[in-house]
Amino acid sequence: MTAPVVVAIDGPAGAGKSTVAKRVAGRLGYLYVDSGAMYRAVALWALRNGTGLEDWHRLEQLALAADIQLEERTDRVYLNGEDVTEAIRAEGISSAASRISTVPGVRRALVEKQKQFALSHSVVMEGRDIGTVVFPNARVKIFLDAAPGIRADRRHRQLLDKGIENDPSETEREIRVRDNRDRTRAEAPLLQAPDAEYVDATSMDLEEVEEAVLRIIRTRTSH
Ligand code: C5P
Repeated sequence: MTAPVVVAIDGPAGAGKSTVAKRVAGRLGYLYVDSGAMYRAVALWALRNGTGLEDWHRLEQLALAADIQLEERTDRVYLNGEDVTEAIRAEGISSAASRISTVPGVRRALVEKQKQFALSHSVVMEGRDIGTVVFPNARVKIFLDAAPGIRADRRHRQLLDKGIENDPSETEREIRVRDNRDRTRAEAPLLQAPDAEYVDATSMDLEEVEEAVLRIIRTRTSH
């Protein structure tokens, strides 16, 4: 049996990572893993049970105890057996996820869970530190970026599509604050791995980004 292939896609919020990663995984028959959903699930649990976001010890305990299931090739996310797919996209969770993701113990616990996915499957995993920390030896690493205005606009429309009303300027501000926190945190900050391919999706449509990503995968693997 050949070793599972890891395709690591990192980048800031709203660059289109989820959509592209999902489509590419579908095309290749790989498992799609949204690592951000895992941080969101722990954040949701913490908010629900009143854990203070400054209580690092308790947050780490939650991350270790969380049973997080990502249903194959769909968006469904389960936390301790409950379908939390919609709940983790609700207002306030993005920011809470970004805050708890600065906690080293939370990251350690979730990185361990993320590594498990690739033990027996080829995966397309997207997040902030997949190519730098989770899979530093990944065969394929992509850093997907886009201009801030485009990313804010995409996030605004994505939320509307999900029936979540949002003020464009507030969404833009939320993305800016979150990206800044993700890029400047001490533990596993968002940055491009030296051996990652940079893809600027600013003036590309979804099909073009998908083709660019598939081309990189073909070049770096025998696919
Ligand atoms: O990708 P998504 O926007 O759903 O991620 C939510 C938050 O989770 C991010 O803003 C980031 O703070 C955190 N995250 C992370 N590392 C990852 C994936 C997400 O720190 N690999």
